[in-house]
Amino acid sequence: MDFAIEDSPEQREFRAEVRSWLAHNLPAGIEHSVDPRDMNREQYELRRELGRRLGSKGWLYPSMPTAYGGGDLAVEKTVILHDEIARVGLALPPYYDAGGRMAAPTILVWGTEEHKKRFLPPICRGEVRTWQLLTEPSAGSDLAGIKTTAIRDGDAYVVNGQKVFVGSSHGADYSWSIVVTDPKGERHKNLSWLMIPMNLPGISVVPMDLLATGGESGSGSGVKNSVFFDDVRVPAEYLVGGENNGWRVATTHLEAEHGGMGRLADRRVIYEFIELCRQRHDGAAIADDPAARAELVELYIEAEITRLFALRNHWLSHTSQPRSYEGAQYSLRRKLSGLDISEKMLRIAGPRVLTKDERWGPLKGMVEYFQRDAITSLHPGATTDIQRVIISRRIGVGRAEREKAGALR
Ligand SMILES: Cc1cc2nc3c(=O)[nH]c(=O)nc-3n(C[C@H](O)[C@H](O)[C@H](O)COP(=O)(O)OP(=O)(O)OC[C@H]3O[C@@H](n4cnc5c(N)ncnc54)[C@H](O)[C@@H]3O)c2cc1C
Repeated sequence: MDFAIEDSPEQREFRAEVRSWLAHNLPAGIEHSVDPRDMNREQYELRRELGRRLGSKGWLYPSMPTAYGGGDLAVEKTVILHDEIARVGLALPPYYDAGGRMAAPTILVWGTEEHKKRFLPPICRGEVRTWQLLTEPSAGSDLAGIKTTAIRDGDAYVVNGQKVFVGSSHGADYSWSIVVTDPKGERHKNLSWLMIPMNLPGISVVPMDLLATGGESGSGSGVKNSVFFDDVRVPAEYLVGGENNGWRVATTHLEAEHGGMGRLADRRVIYEFIELCRQRHDGAAIADDPAARAELVELYIEAEITRLFALRNHWLSHTSQPRSYEGAQYSLRRKLSGLDISEKMLRIAGPRVLTKDERWGPLKGMVEYFQRDAITSLHPGATTDIQRVIISRRIGVGRAEREKAGALR
């Protein structure tokens, strides 16, 4: 990969095109860097509108094939696109679509041509929003221990069970869900994935009000939910990857979720915080203090390590290079450095930086959000313990035979 800091002439041209497009297409009134708890319906709809506009250009899911609504962009261009969206305080997609981000690459690997044509274009064009439903009250880290059943009955699967800690504010059109299709079957050989339309009878969504955060800044999730399935009939053709083949399908989903594709331009707030510390107020800047300066250097290095791991993983997956432990490595680093950085921010700027005071400009309130997010981010997409387990298996110290990374393309 070319680590050149300057854009090439072609990249410069593409960056200018994206910047100009955004200047003309950002819906009026859209607020940037919104704490997901504060994202009201109006702001949410503006983000969906932006998503549809990006989708019509193939820029919402720029790495996906054009045949399925993506942009099929070269890796340098996808990096620029993510970068420019982040520059205006948003993310790709600009709303919570974890189901889309994880289901799309998984369906690309495991779906039939019919599945790809049915499910991918609406996701890539921003027409639908999808949640990912894995965790249950008695199965989180031990995903293979889930209990939600989907039993074949004629032309449908009848789903019963409960998922927890899932989704976001403002609902979803589909849920990409792992279920048990053979309750008497051997562990790992009894699972399947269903794309479940959320308007089917028998589905109820109950917000978990005490857990209202999570998700990367720019597209965060807001509230998490419990989802109950009560005799929900899902058309049989919505089962993706083969009946009872769900554990193999999960290796792709989990690879994507654990960071195998990297999250580009994530956590811009750190760089904005550093910028703020350089600025002078009444003749003084936070960075004038040598102790604060030393901490800022450490904070910058931490942020850069995570950013470069993300960039590397994006490149590895995008260009179909061999991969091993890199996804879990990025995820572990991101989780641990988030806590460390949030502590440093407090030490450098003091508790006043947590306020929504106008003085903090575009940062107001976002450092406080970052603090909360750093804590709750330890769990989603597997805990730090589980990331360590994965890395150990991949580098051959957790198992005699090195475990392989899940396929991504
Ligand atoms: C903000 C947030 C958003 C989330 N979003 C989603 C979502 O969109 N969809 C979804 O399906 N789920 C979601 N989750 C759930 C998340 O995936 C689970 O919380 C996570 O997988 C851990 O499961 P658990 O909470 O049941 O903890 P448990 O699995 O019960 O783990 C409890 C503790 O034991 C440790 N532990 C467990 N097994 C091992 C082991 N083998 N070795 C070492 N230590 C171990 C864990 O690290 C943890 O510290 C979300 C969670 C949060 C907090």
